[in-house]
Amino acid sequence: MNAKPEKFIIDGLRLDGRRPDELRPLKISAGVLKRADGSCYLELGANKVMAAVYGPRQVHPRHMQDATKAIVRYRYNMASFSVGDRKRPGPDRRSIEISKVCRDAFQPVVIKERHPRLAIDVFVEVLQAGAGTRTAGINAASVALADAGIAMKSLVASCAVGKVDDTLVLDLMKEEDNYGQADMPIAVIPTTGEITLLQMDGHLTRDEFGTGFKMAMEGCQKIHEAQKEALAKCYQMKDDGGEQVGE
Ligand code: UDP
Repeated sequence: MNAKPEKFIIDGLRLDGRRPDELRPLKISAGVLKRADGSCYLELGANKVMAAVYGPRQVHPRHMQDATKAIVRYRYNMASFSVGDRKRPGPDRRSIEISKVCRDAFQPVVIKERHPRLAIDVFVEVLQAGAGTRTAGINAASVALADAGIAMKSLVASCAVGKVDDTLVLDLMKEEDNYGQADMPIAVIPTTGEITLLQMDGHLTRDEFGTGFKMAMEGCQKIHEAQKEALAKCYQMKDDGGEQVGE
């Protein structure tokens, strides 16, 4: 693990040169996997994540079927090589919790009634982790679901806000996440402002919560624009008969 920095903000700028309200560089590519129904590769700062969506498809085991609507399953997995100290492969408490909260973040947007008895499976693989992997995963999963043609009321966008050196900062990097005073990831339906995930580590005052929340919402709006651009680019390429990225 990196050592705790003495200061997180020097002359108004963060350790990676960002202003407090700036997102890390974001790159999104939709439709990158041939065998998935929908997919997305996303980089957010040091994070590199791949999302693949399969479905709507048969549910196995069958007793998990819902006769009235589709079920949504979400598996977040961190590759063993994605972090500095090798991560033990397979699910652990953290990945089970992240899978659950991320799945819940999509429940209000996926129109499940369209596909009774079927499953929509979302897989998020973290290839390189650099803080905020759950938010990066949600942003990628959202694009992959749209790429798969799953009926949704809207995309979901996600980012975190936190506090370091008594200053609110958007989209925490690793040192800020590990040693900061607070970390609050949110996911939002950008078209309505409805919150579908809100978690918090550490402490924020009521005022900080309000200001930080607004910062995170603005961050999510920017991510939403990038998600839409990536989808438009992917559809354009398909329309032009061009090859998908990765083919
Ligand atoms: N991390 C790690 N090893 C682990 C789990 C996490 O090095 O087994 C790092 C990784 O960089 C991750 C960060 O700690 O992004 C913060 O993890 P957290 O549980 O807060 O989730 P995240 O911020 O990634 O959603």
